[in-house]
Amino acid sequence: MNSSIEGTSLHQRILALDTVYDCIEASQKAFRQTAGEQGSPLSCPPGCSTCCRGFVPDLIPIEADRIALYLLTERMDLLERFSCLEDESENLGSTCVFWDPRNPKGNCTIYPARALICRFFGFSAMVHKSGEPAFTLCRWMPSPPGLEDRVLVGRTLLERTFGAVPPRMTDLSLEVVAIDPDGAGTRLSLHEALRPAISRVSLILRLVSLNVDDDTRADDPGLQKPASGYTL
Ligand code: SF4
Repeated sequence: MNSSIEGTSLHQRILALDTVYDCIEASQKAFRQTAGEQGSPLSCPPGCSTCCRGFVPDLIPIEADRIALYLLTERMDLLERFSCLEDESENLGSTCVFWDPRNPKGNCTIYPARALICRFFGFSAMVHKSGEPAFTLCRWMPSPPGLEDRVLVGRTLLERTFGAVPPRMTDLSLEVVAIDPDGAGTRLSLHEALRPAISRVSLILRLVSLNVDDDTRADDPGLQKPASGYTL
């Protein structure tokens, strides 16, 4: 992560968010590796990003701030494109503005900062009404050899089939909400959430670059120094 907001509470919250994001990636990697070793390999079709088509993720403010920071510090080109599309708001359609199927480097152009829900695509479990984990193979994902069911419910069945259980979306979503409890009730689509996030994060970047003093920080929640003992 860009360290230009170091020392602010926003920096601490984004670090905590990245810890959850890293945890998702590590759990999914471990799940896929174990499934492969168990003879049930799971992977998306090459170049597929169909889950982004006709989809705009919903975000809580800290997820939007993460994307805004990425755009402001690493992808001004995309920020400008977003601003232009936003000015002609009819062009902000029902597919995520950052999805680019022609991009040779990957269809998600904000991949390192993408939203929580985008990280769950393909390799995560829901909670079944029985309380057990439930895993559904994406409709585009080839079935592993010999596996007929595409919906598998229960830890025992998942461990027998894949040797492991995929990370549970609910648990990880709660971890993200715990980072930003005040924002939990403000879930907006990416297209709506991004403009206020860009304003918030731009202001923080400007104030940090001006080296504002502690009294000014105290008046701005995003600029406050982290509380000691801050945990997830
Ligand atoms: S943020 Fe990236 S992964 Fe998520 S919907 Fe947009 S293009 Fe797809």
